[in-house]
Amino acid sequence: ESREDARRIAGLLDATRAAIDAHADELGRLDAIAGDGDHGIGMQRGASAAAAEAAGLAARGAGAGTLLAGAGGAWADRAGGTSGALWGVILRTLGSAAGDDDVLTGERVAAGLTEAAEAVMAYGKARVGDKTLVDALVPFAESLAAGVADGQSLSTAWETAAKTATKAAQDTADLLPGMGRARSHGDKSLGVPDPGAVSLALIATTVGGLLAR
Ligand code: ADP
Ligand code: MG
Ligand code: MG
Repeated sequence: ESREDARRIAGLLDATRAAIDAHADELGRLDAIAGDGDHGIGMQRGASAAAAEAAGLAARGAGAGTLLAGAGGAWADRAGGTSGALWGVILRTLGSAAGDDDVLTGERVAAGLTEAAEAVMAYGKARVGDKTLVDALVPFAESLAAGVADGQSLSTAWETAAKTATKAAQDTADLLPGMGRARSHGDKSLGVPDPGAVSLALIATTVGGLLAR
C-alpha cells in the first residue's frame, strides 16, 4: 500500500542526500565555470531538507503523495536558487501523480515523470537544447516511459533511463547555454556539462541502484 511506498521513497530521498553530499564539491566546481558556484551547496541544502521532511512524514504514516509533496516543499524552501525551485516542482508533481491511495505502478511513476518534465518546462521556460537540467530530465522520462510501455519492470526501465540521462547530461558539454545564469557567461561553458543536468543524472542513477534490490 501507499504507506509502504512512502517509506521506500523516504529511503530513496536519504540515499539522494548522501549521493549529493558526496558530489557537492564537484557540482560546485561545475557551476563555478559558467554560473555562481552554488549548485553543490544548494543541492545539499535541498536534498537534506527533503530527506528530513520525508523521514518525519513516513514516521507519521503519510502516503506516498503527501510525502513527495512535503519533501518537494522542503527542498524548494531550503535550497534557494533556480534548481531548488525546480526540484520542488519535480517532487510535488510526482506527489500529485502518486496520490495516497494506490500502490505505485511503473506506469504511474513513468507518467509522473513525464508530467514532471512538462511542469519544469512550464515553470522555467527552458526547452531541450538550452543546456539545463531539462536536457537530462526529458530523455530520462521518455526512456522510462518507453521501457515501461514495453513491459519492462520499473527497475529495469529505470536503469536504462538513468544511463540515458547520464549520457544526455554529459552531452550538454557541447551545448551553449540558452537559459539560467550560465547564459550571461556565454561560451565559457563550452566543453563543460551543465551542473543541473549532471546532478539530475546522479540522482536518477542513485535511485536506480536501489530500485534494483
Ligand atoms: P542558480 O542558477 O540560481 O544559482 P543552481 O546553481 O542551484 O541555481 O542551479 C543551476 C542549474 O539550474 C543549471 O545548471 C540548470 O540546470 C538549472 N536551470 C537554471 N535555469 C533553468 C531553467 N530556466 N529551466 C530549467 N533548469 C534551469
Ligand atoms: Mg548556481
Ligand atoms: Mg545561485
